[in-house]
Amino acid sequence: MNKIGNTSSISNISNISGKNHNKLPFVTKERMEEIIQQFPTPFHLYDEKGIRENAKALREAFSWNRGFREYFAVKATPNPYLIDILREYGCGVDCSSMTELMLAEAMGLGGEEIMFSSNETPEEEYAYAHKLGAVINLDDITHIPFLEKITGVLPETISCRYNPGGVFQISTSIMDNPGDAKYGFTREQLFEGFRILKEKGVKNFGIHSFLASNTVTNAYYPLLAKQLFELAVSLKKETGANITFINLSGGIGIPYRPDQEANDIRAIGEGVRKAYEETLIPAGMDQVSIYAELGRFMMGPYGQLVTTVLHQKHIYKEYIGCDACAVNLMRPAMYGAYHHITVMGKEDQPCDHMYDVVGSLCENNDKFAIDRMLPEIETGDVLVIHDTGAHGHSMGYNYNGKLRSAELLLKEDGSVKLIRRAETPKDYFATLDGLDIYSGFNF
Ligand SMILES: *Cc1c(COP(=O)(O)O)cnc(C)c1O
Repeated sequence: MNKIGNTSSISNISNISGKNHNKLPFVTKERMEEIIQQFPTPFHLYDEKGIRENAKALREAFSWNRGFREYFAVKATPNPYLIDILREYGCGVDCSSMTELMLAEAMGLGGEEIMFSSNETPEEEYAYAHKLGAVINLDDITHIPFLEKITGVLPETISCRYNPGGVFQISTSIMDNPGDAKYGFTREQLFEGFRILKEKGVKNFGIHSFLASNTVTNAYYPLLAKQLFELAVSLKKETGANITFINLSGGIGIPYRPDQEANDIRAIGEGVRKAYEETLIPAGMDQVSIYAELGRFMMGPYGQLVTTVLHQKHIYKEYIGCDACAVNLMRPAMYGAYHHITVMGKEDQPCDHMYDVVGSLCENNDKFAIDRMLPEIETGDVLVIHDTGAHGHSMGYNYNGKLRSAELLLKEDGSVKLIRRAETPKDYFATLDGLDIYSGFNF
């Protein structure tokens, strides 16, 4: 969507009302110390058990729909070890770039297991997606002739992304602003596009839409589904298109703050079912498959960024300096997003100190938390930054010559597996071809 963050702010939760859902590290302090002995901080740690339980719950929540499939949004966490776990629960992948498609192919995925939901797509990416037999989700009406020029004959199945414009509201609260988003066909273009595609021999049609990001409400998917189901009925009536799937895409959020109530995927599945029974079944469209492209919901809560406190600084404010920085987790710097922080071993101590928790970039927005109430922190303490499993490591970058961290998988038996090593200086300098004239560039 147009933004991955939300309105949540980076600073302390002002009001811990009734629901304080305790966010805990995946392992004890003792176990964490053992892990750090082997793999120095910072690193992202993923919890296999949580990933599995959640994937199973999603599958069950939509088991009423015979063709249901989750296409995991690869960009959220492009790690094959993690994607392989999701595949055991029937998930495919949603790709939007060349390298994401390459990753899917290398993992043995193909055909309808891949959804290609790209935008501003280069020719060679459409060609490659087509070669893999991926389901192509067009972002714009002009991409119909663009794709046709590449593929000759259009694929039998095509999806189009819909943008209704305006704002997306749930009762009185504005969830997001599709009218400002660069994605999708307008309503008129969608009808026109389906007619053109049908004339050109396309047999099966899908509709895709992504209207709000990180929604922490059970109402989002059912409301979106209702709109898309009504649209599908009109499209079928007016264009005669055979609509075989409706892709509700991403957007189911997670409670980054401990005072937020988590989404209930069962209730969400039932809400979509109700809309399906009210709208599609009476229209004779009872064979339509429901697809999803969830990223954050599948992985977000099952990753944590683990970092060690290196320094404390007392100037106009109190600063805690750690060995992770915004290149390891960009969301707070980029969106002011809140990520909960636990000081390992101090879970039960009172949060009676106010800190800014910061990284080492020469950028003053490199702050994981601002004015956050935490237990008293000492140098050497280990901090766990919660909910980094999606749009965390994957948004990493190399500013200030900083290196991306390792990714570790905490397996169900309690063992830890390195699923991506940390970058080394050699990786950082690897793209500087031709510098062998300097003997020093030999890392
Ligand atoms: C980012 C994205 C997703 C996943 O979004 P989440 O908020 O992580 O669920 C799904 N589909 C498309 C096309 C996206 O761009």
